[in-house]
Amino acid sequence: MKNLDLNTRRSLATPRGVGVMCNFYAARAKNATLWDVEGKEYIDFAGGIAVLNTGHCHPKVQKAIAEQLENFTHTAYQIVPYANYVTLAERINAIAPIAGQKKTAFFTTGVEAIENAIKIARSHTGRPGIVAFSGSFHGRTLLGMGLTGKVTPYKRSFGPMPNDIFHIPFPTMTQDISVADSLKALDLLFQSDIDPQRVAAIIIEPVQGEGGFNIAPPDLMTALRQRCDEHGMLLIADEVQTGFARTGKMFAMEHHNVQPDIMCIAKSLAGGMPLSGVVGRAEIMDSPQAGGLGGTYAGNPLSVAAALAVLDVIQDEQLCERANELGTKLINHLNELRSSCPAIADVRGLGSMVALELNDPQTGAPDAARVKQVQDDAIAQGLVLLSCGVHGNVLRFLYPLTIPDEQFDQALAILANTLTS
Ligand code: PMP
Repeated sequence: MKNLDLNTRRSLATPRGVGVMCNFYAARAKNATLWDVEGKEYIDFAGGIAVLNTGHCHPKVQKAIAEQLENFTHTAYQIVPYANYVTLAERINAIAPIAGQKKTAFFTTGVEAIENAIKIARSHTGRPGIVAFSGSFHGRTLLGMGLTGKVTPYKRSFGPMPNDIFHIPFPTMTQDISVADSLKALDLLFQSDIDPQRVAAIIIEPVQGEGGFNIAPPDLMTALRQRCDEHGMLLIADEVQTGFARTGKMFAMEHHNVQPDIMCIAKSLAGGMPLSGVVGRAEIMDSPQAGGLGGTYAGNPLSVAAALAVLDVIQDEQLCERANELGTKLINHLNELRSSCPAIADVRGLGSMVALELNDPQTGAPDAARVKQVQDDAIAQGLVLLSCGVHGNVLRFLYPLTIPDEQFDQALAILANTLTS
């Protein structure tokens, strides 16, 4: 099988809307290494978009899936339940940074967790309104894209949008938006667009993922918590990309001294198997009537088995500590490259959620073309890198936290090459 032939077949058989970044096809993967159908080897710094904090095919995750495969693959939890679903809910309840009694429901994709969090918040408050942030990404379904704060490519040509969703600016240093600016916009929104008594929830990514790895300042989170308490609104944390040790803590909300009411989880939860969940305060989670939540495949047994193993691996291999160690090393490395790469406009990160922002050194304008060039050069040298940011000028690093040191250093050397050439 050749990559070129597959690309020809792909362009004939699949629509362009499913945009594909790499022009090579995966054949095999192990931990942080990918091999394509022609046998070329790559270091995977994309991690299936933040899904592989425990690496490709972790032996413990594989074993858990294989064992479950011997027993059954599907019963539909809502018809014939299984113990592992309950065990996983108990384990998520025990680690979610939310005080008091908690409950968890499982779904399949990240955006399904988001949709269900909104349904639960509306059901609990009896209110329709949702406040989200500019630059946010919450998924591609109708409600998900409505919540998402980026028009191209997520919303263009797909209207009408679901209503009662409002966006306020997310504070970012590079776009010169302060916490005060964001809060002013929220107050203005409540004056001019929607009575806060009609707002069910504010939804926020503690570190914006697709939007550019923008870290929510603690002051913002504290103020949002206060506004929510003042007006009877719920605070929903979208931890789909930030969860499961990526930021150096199990969940990014643990970096804040306030708690959400509801949290959405997915991606690295199940080490490559499709699984998502909504965890929240028990009385909130119990608001929808029986049958109001769920889905045929929600909480798939193979995925649930994988997730139980993932939680063990994160603990046994101390991946939170590892995330901090690798993130610090990467940030130091990128900062050292600043003098030889004037395009570097910002280096930021929380644990291993690290971003590198590139601007035109002459004009200071966001330089998406340079980011694309770095990505292409890196791929040519065997390193898969992802971009993000509302202007497409940010490189993000989503390597498995289980990556061996030697391979990590190899990737840093390729990065240095591509950024300084
Ligand atoms: N929320 C966030 C923060 C995400 O990063 C993503 C996926 N990139 C989603 C929601 C949607 O997840 P999925 O693609 O699994 O639906």
